[in-house]
Amino acid sequence: MNALRITPLERWIRDKIGMASQSRFTRDEVRRYQLEKLGQVLGYACRYSPFYRQLLSGLANDGLAGFEQFAALPFTTVEDLARDPLEFLCVSHSEVARVVTLRSSGTTGFPKRLFFDQADLELTVDFFHHGMSTLTRAGQRVLILMPGGLPGSVGDLLVKGLARMGAEGIVHGPVRDPEEAIDAILTHRTQVLVGIPVQLLSLVRHPQSVRIPPGLIQNVLLSTDYIPASIVAAIRQAWGCGVYQHYGLTETGYGGGVECDAHDGYHLREADLFVEVVDPATGRSLPEGVSGEVVVTTLTRRAMPLIRYRTGDVARLLPDYCPCGSPLRRLGKVAGRLNNGAALGPYALLCMAALDEAIFAIPQVLNFQAEIIPANGCGRLRVTVHCDPGRFEDTLTHVHAALARLPAVREAAAQGLLTVDPVRLTPENWFTTGAAKRTLIDRRRERSTA
Ligand SMILES: [Zn+2]
Repeated sequence: MNALRITPLERWIRDKIGMASQSRFTRDEVRRYQLEKLGQVLGYACRYSPFYRQLLSGLANDGLAGFEQFAALPFTTVEDLARDPLEFLCVSHSEVARVVTLRSSGTTGFPKRLFFDQADLELTVDFFHHGMSTLTRAGQRVLILMPGGLPGSVGDLLVKGLARMGAEGIVHGPVRDPEEAIDAILTHRTQVLVGIPVQLLSLVRHPQSVRIPPGLIQNVLLSTDYIPASIVAAIRQAWGCGVYQHYGLTETGYGGGVECDAHDGYHLREADLFVEVVDPATGRSLPEGVSGEVVVTTLTRRAMPLIRYRTGDVARLLPDYCPCGSPLRRLGKVAGRLNNGAALGPYALLCMAALDEAIFAIPQVLNFQAEIIPANGCGRLRVTVHCDPGRFEDTLTHVHAALARLPAVREAAAQGLLTVDPVRLTPENWFTTGAAKRTLIDRRRERSTA
């Protein structure tokens, strides 16, 4: 028998929403719970947060009649968070257990700050405990290739969640030196890795990767940035392990949703988050199955609840039940970020995700940086590739061919809107972004705002 294991989030969420004793568990029950929680979070935010009191004045006083009414409420944007994060705070300063300051991708240029109290952090630890049990067993060691030095950081919360299932989390931090990370895998004999896609790629494609005995690494969890199919395939092939994908933002308390053994969308953390998908241009809610911008409402956060927060991520809610049998909703693979692309003329858009898919599929590529440089009213695409110096020539040919196959590049070049610089190769990974998302750098924007 080869039946898929049902996602462990199923039982966890069932218990959390008070359905533990029921034999039947359907999407409607989750929806009923979420509607009740949405009503509560509106009331709570209006009472304690000056921002929401003003934004929702008069809207939330009479309770929430239904999802349609909720879908008519205004959005919260990254600019709102950057403008005055303290306006969102619903607890006293002394209750704040963790503050995260992030460079804002919004237009204000101010960093955004997020606040969590101890109860909020506990919710994430609880999610990590159950979410990680998809791919980790008691007694295993997990190397965490993410930031984790500070209390309340993602690594710290993962270690705590893993300890609850009898697994040991070891924080290494983002990969700066692949050899050092490979040493850490061997020293600790870790069976599970948690990391950032391009950084895991730098391990599997490193010559020293052969030191890792076959069968040692059983599962890998990828998170934080866009996850190219070619990186998933490269890891599976190199180590013969399972590769699971996670979706989450600092705004969702790091955790958001995780794949099950079916590897077909992220099962969402539905007891803590309400996820919508909207048309990025009109803001209108989109039906399941249709791609748009992911919008998140926190249902259980105390320090800084977020209501209809526009994430900038593009994905769709999958309409069918998961092959694992769980009725929990799934978010389909995140297809990229709205602001992580460059417009080439009125109709063509070159996305970082498309470049990732095309360039990481070349076996010797370890990382790359892409920029659009202003040139006589149009753009010049400049790609710098980090690869093994022994494979320079070979790489050059493949990268050129991959770029030429990209529809956005081909069409924009044909219309005279884009030229492509000769690809540059470097043995150094000088453009690594650490734990930050990689972006398509559009220098035309820098010029126009300077
Ligand atoms: Zn599933």
